[in-house]
Amino acid sequence: MRWTRWWRRRPLTCPEVARLLQRHLDQEVPEHLAVRVQAHLEDCRRCGLEAEAYQQIKQAVRRQGQPLPPEAVERLRAFAASLLEEGKDGAGGPR
Ligand SMILES: [Zn+2]
Repeated sequence: MRWTRWWRRRPLTCPEVARLLQRHLDQEVPEHLAVRVQAHLEDCRRCGLEAEAYQQIKQAVRRQGQPLPPEAVERLRAFAASLLEEGKDGAGGPR
């Protein structure tokens, strides 16, 4: 794909990390990509929290019968909403 070259060099954006996050936590992304996701998570507080929330939910799902932690669910919902808003103006920068 044509965009692959520049895509590999620049840091991942929050929406990209959000899209990869579930697979990343399932260790389904290739190593070179996982490294970059991990770097972003360490760098970006918002996505770091997002990753934590996902992990909490995954753990709760694994131990079936446990309710999902409402805080984590709410955080994910707010995060997804904020990403959608950013996507609308296309910039994705801070307001
Ligand atoms: Zn981020």
